[in-house]
Parts: sequence; C-alpha cells; structure tokens
Amino acid sequence: MKLATFRAGNKTGCGLLVGETLLEVETATDGRPGPSLENLLGDEAALATLRELQRRGRGDAQFCARNGLPLAEVDLLAPVPRPGKVLCLGLNYRDHAAESGAPVPAEPVVFAKVSSSVTGPGRPIHIPEASDKIDYEVELAFVIARPARRVTADRALDYVGGYTVLNDVSARDYQREKPGGQWTLAKSFDTFCPLGPWVVTPDEVGDPQTLAIECRVSGELMQSSSTSRMIFGVAEIIEYLTRVLTLEPGDVVATGTPPGVGFARTPPRYLRDGDIVQCAIERIGTLTNPVTADA
Ligand code: ZN
Repeated sequence: MKLATFRAGNKTGCGLLVGETLLEVETATDGRPGPSLENLLGDEAALATLRELQRRGRGDAQFCARNGLPLAEVDLLAPVPRPGKVLCLGLNYRDHAAESGAPVPAEPVVFAKVSSSVTGPGRPIHIPEASDKIDYEVELAFVIARPARRVTADRALDYVGGYTVLNDVSARDYQREKPGGQWTLAKSFDTFCPLGPWVVTPDEVGDPQTLAIECRVSGELMQSSSTSRMIFGVAEIIEYLTRVLTLEPGDVVATGTPPGVGFARTPPRYLRDGDIVQCAIERIGTLTNPVTADA
C-alpha cells in the first residue's frame, strides 16, 4: 500500500493511495489510529482494514470518486512531517566512498539530520545565505513501525513499517571545509530533508536490496544505481543502530547515497536557483523538489 500524509483545506490526515485517488484513512478505520502515519504503521488491524479498502477501491472507480480526493487536488506533506529522529548512513555505497576519497567503512558511519530539516514533496529546497555548495543525495529511507531495541538482523525487517525516498541535501563547505567536519549542521539546514512522496508498505516493496535508484537535476541523470550495491543493508543497519538506541515509531533512517553527487563531478555541479531535483526509487516513487534562493 502507498500511505501518504496530506492537507486538504485546513485538515491534515493520512491517506491510502488507490490509483490517482487518496482515500482518507481515519474515515475508513472509524477514527483509529488517529491522523498520523507513525501510529498507523504499527496498527495491524487498521492496516488489514486498509488492505480490504484497497482491494475494493482498485476494482471500483466510482467508489473511489465518492469516497476519496483526487491526488492532484491534495497537498502532500512529508509522510512523517516531524520524525522523532532522522538517522543517516554515510559512505554506504562502495563507489560513493571512492568518489568521496574515503576508505570503504568497516562498520556503518552514522550521523543525524535534525527533524526540523524535513520538508515534503513539491516543497522548495532553499539555498541558504551561508553556503553556495549545496548538493543532492538520493537515498532509500525506511520508517520504523514499532519500538526496536537490540534487534538482530534476522528479525529486523519486522520493525520496518514502509519505505520512502529521502534527499539528503548537504552543504559541502560545512561538511568538508569546517573544522572537525560539521556533518550535522551541513545536513540540517531548513528544507534539507525532502521526504516522500509517500510510504510504501514492505509487502509491495519486497526485498529492499533490489531497487533501482536514481537522481535527476533539471532533467539530467546524475545518480543511477541499485540498492543491491549498499555495503550495509537495511537489516544490518537496524541491528547496528538498536545496539545503541531504541528506534521508535515514525523514526526515519536513510541508507546512504550511490555515486554521482555534485561535489565529486568535474567540474562540481551544485544546486542552483531554478533547478528541479527528482529522486526516484523503483516500486516506491519519485520525490520532486524545486530549488530556490532563500528569500
Ligand atoms: Zn547521505
């Protein structure tokens, strides 16, 4: 299932996408589990109801028209607008480590993006006054469905509520030229974490290590790879993280970017006012964001 967070008028809610129609989850599940996607992902009964609704909606365009909103008329937000935490893997594709001039890591390299950097599909990425080396990074991200603490890799995927696309926008001068390497600041400017356009449940994604992944900037293909080329896969990442901390419902983890980022190109290709960034992952969807100079 494709599950989205949307705004229509002054109402915010969670929707199930059937074709080009968004069916409101709260109506279908009699108000359970409330309007937020992080509650929904761990609610098996609500998910079962939605699967039934999806089956019905797929065969019945009139049912969808009566009970849903056309996708084109709703405002999609980030599926989890304010995650409790956003953790990211650095250098998790061998060929991206090579283009960055970094050794292939022997264990996962983890950093955080603060959750106020999260923005939704279609929303602008602002080029801040403080940096002119703004870069794109398409990444497969997963959203946690239930609390995960000391989870071994063989059980780890049971804790994933779904997958989405994350653009790990980065200010390379902060990351690479400031004392100590300011990874957290470099990746936490406002609007530097586009997320979406929706979450796709694991049953529709299948094996998360088999997905084509690409990024285009203003139409030009910049990154094109497969999640099969990750060094540490989703299950291993969960095992590694939950030795240290509890992953909670709604937490978002990004799994690293393939090669082709702007700073590693000759000449470098940083984002400019007027660019359009399209991050696409097979079986999930395309996350599109315009780039604008900060007003
Ligand atoms: Zn990244």
